Amino acid sequence: MRLVKIGKKGEKKWKGTCTGCGAKFEATEKELNVTYDRDGSLAQEDCTQCGQTVNFYAADGSSSRDSYPEER
Ligand SMILES: [Zn+2]
Repeated sequence: MRLVKIGKKGEKKWKGTCTGCGAKFEATEKELNVTYDRDGSLAQEDCTQCGQTVNFYAADGSSSRDSYPEER
């Protein structure tokens, strides 16, 4: 078997802002535990600063839960 092209799945950038302390995070999809449901995709991680749950959204806007509010 020969590798023709390296897959990009899992390399997508996700961003999140902590609602507790305002810290901003960026992660690749494979670093996160992304869940998919009828509303779209979402990932959650605990803030490393304050422990609050941080919602991550795909930085390219493709997580259909509309709402990475800043800089697309
Ligand atoms: Zn925080």
